[in-house]
Amino acid sequence: ATPTAIMVGTGQGARAGILVKNAEALERAEKLAVLAVDKTGTLTEGRPAVVEVCPAPDLEREPVLALAAALEAASAHPLARAVVEAAGAAVAAETVDTVAGKGVSGRVDGRAVLVGSPGFVREHGVEVPAAIVDRVVGAGRTPVIVAADGRYAGLIAIADPVRASSAAAVRRLQSEGVKVVMLTGDHPGTAAAVAQAVGIDDFQAGVLPADKAAAVARLASARGLVGMAGDGINDAPALAAADVSFAMGGGSDVALDAADVTLVRNDLNSVADAVDLSRATLSKIR
Ligand code: ADP
Ligand code: MG
Repeated sequence: ATPTAIMVGTGQGARAGILVKNAEALERAEKLAVLAVDKTGTLTEGRPAVVEVCPAPDLEREPVLALAAALEAASAHPLARAVVEAAGAAVAAETVDTVAGKGVSGRVDGRAVLVGSPGFVREHGVEVPAAIVDRVVGAGRTPVIVAADGRYAGLIAIADPVRASSAAAVRRLQSEGVKVVMLTGDHPGTAAAVAQAVGIDDFQAGVLPADKAAAVARLASARGLVGMAGDGINDAPALAAADVSFAMGGGSDVALDAADVTLVRNDLNSVADAVDLSRATLSKIR
């Protein structure tokens, strides 16, 4: 590719809100075979909010929420922020440990408290009622389980709406011959509901932050040139592992630094635009 054509393409991209940091990435975008996309903050708006609190039968809503908030106050996770916001003031926890991709554990008022995914809480030997989890994930919401002293205390349902542009962008990418695969640390049920809402038929759920990069590498060896779109700190290694990486403009600085391309409009349609731009730029050169 001639440097002039690439410069023109890069300039066109910038005017359309596609900031290309790495010109070679723009050249590669033409041959994109598969795009891995993060769910939270990429397909969804990334502003999770508590929509429901379901205390265990013998408990009240407020103390369950307060217990969760005491631990979540120490976590920077978007789900944690939603819990703290819903609870208002929180008591201080005596100790807190955060477990990446799972949740938080610690001591509050002398009690051993767990807050996190159903799997995380069950790993600690706590029985979590399946019916309520199934109902919440079926609605595309994330279940945050609260347990105290080894007993289930309640479920906090958190919703994060799908971006209005996501379904159309997925359709466009698919029609351009790009296979779209969603990667998420969230519950498989929540992942399935969101995937269905945006028209994605292939997803991997429960992917730990440390495993996202390996998942991208596996897609590359199975399918060819692989792209990755993400927004979070957790996504940086996966972005670095991809042949062409895209960060949502509103995402974390860590993701923006790791990505080849910044999507200023926070819209996955810009990935399809970048593929079009790459094809147009390179066809002018040949
Ligand atoms: P994502 O791919 O959605 O960014 P993460 O890897 O950050 O997911 O987290 C995966 C799952 O772990 C979440 O869906 C949630 O169930 C659980 N989790 C992680 N951190 C927390 C937290 N601070 N509070 C509650 N749940 C958490
Ligand atoms: Mg994200």
